[in-house]
Amino acid sequence: MKETTTKGNNFLRRTVEFQPHSRNLFFHILTACNLKCAHCYINPDQHGTRTLDEDTINGWLRLFSLEHGSGAIKKVQDTNVIFLGGEPTLNPALATGIKEARRLGYASITVDTNGYLFHNILDKVTPEEVDYFSFSLDGSKPEINDSIRGRGTFETCTKGIRATVKRGFSVSSIFTASAANIHDLPNMPKLLQKLGVSRFFIQVIGIRGNPAREGGARLQLTRDVWESVVPETAFEAAKLGLVCHYPKVFLERDEPFECAGFVAENYFVFPNGRVYTCPLCEDYPLHSYEIRKGRLEKRAPLTESELYNLKIPEGCVMNKLFHPGNLEYDPQGEPMYKVACCMLKEEVVLR
Ligand code: SF4
Ligand code: SF4
Repeated sequence: MKETTTKGNNFLRRTVEFQPHSRNLFFHILTACNLKCAHCYINPDQHGTRTLDEDTINGWLRLFSLEHGSGAIKKVQDTNVIFLGGEPTLNPALATGIKEARRLGYASITVDTNGYLFHNILDKVTPEEVDYFSFSLDGSKPEINDSIRGRGTFETCTKGIRATVKRGFSVSSIFTASAANIHDLPNMPKLLQKLGVSRFFIQVIGIRGNPAREGGARLQLTRDVWESVVPETAFEAAKLGLVCHYPKVFLERDEPFECAGFVAENYFVFPNGRVYTCPLCEDYPLHSYEIRKGRLEKRAPLTESELYNLKIPEGCVMNKLFHPGNLEYDPQGEPMYKVACCMLKEEVVLR
């Protein structure tokens, strides 16, 4: 982690560099969900419709806990697992998956949820077993959140947060920023502090899944809007005692660029066995690995892995391929900035 900027004497803003000895397993244990959020990136045509059963979840957790699972994989104690869906609490096997991940020695266990907390998940696991429940909330009030995530979701999600905090679990919250809700982002820190949330993740809308199908480019944020709202909100959140993370998104032309596909280990695992190493590729059959008959197998080219090799002045190759509208060029045809890896985050904390 590298400290890059300070504001006053009381804050630290740090770029969370890709950690050479850590890896993340983003484990989608089903694709089904009770909601239909406007910005959902789940794409059943590409990710399948299967709900993984207990044996498969445990088996795949074991697979990613083995050093010989793939040539690149490191140790389980360096691996964070994030259970995702769809809505992961809809999968009745989630609780046993959490326990198995703890037994195997994963570094941290997070459950990303829409707040409905199905199958009484809070009764089935303990704060010793789950490091964080992470709730998706896209607005500080029902009018904004529910217009994106569906009617009644603000009330259910905030109720879920309160219940989870009350049980002694650590809670984080994820806000997906788009043109539909960026104006409300500054109102989030106070709400989250009141609810007892300790970490706040701001993420930028990805044009994949629903937004890609429905012409979601109109939801994208310009560099000016992003930079005028997000860092300031992160400082406000830190002032209230929250740890805030947000993606760096834009880099100056002379700033160093790194692709997580090269320098980090992130595995985005889907129920149909596809394993991506870059989230921007998830709408395409470009995955690097596939789980077949319980084994993790490297796929033959052409996959995302080969595309990482293309060094371009615009920074992220996949951004240039899939979201060229994010880029701007000067009259000489040179990119005015680079687009950072979507996995590169800034962290703001109170010193
Ligand atoms: S809660 Fe998550 S998985 Fe469900 S529709 Fe919304 S974004 Fe998609
Ligand atoms: S988002 Fe871009 S930079 Fe990051 S892993 Fe994917 S291709 Fe590489």
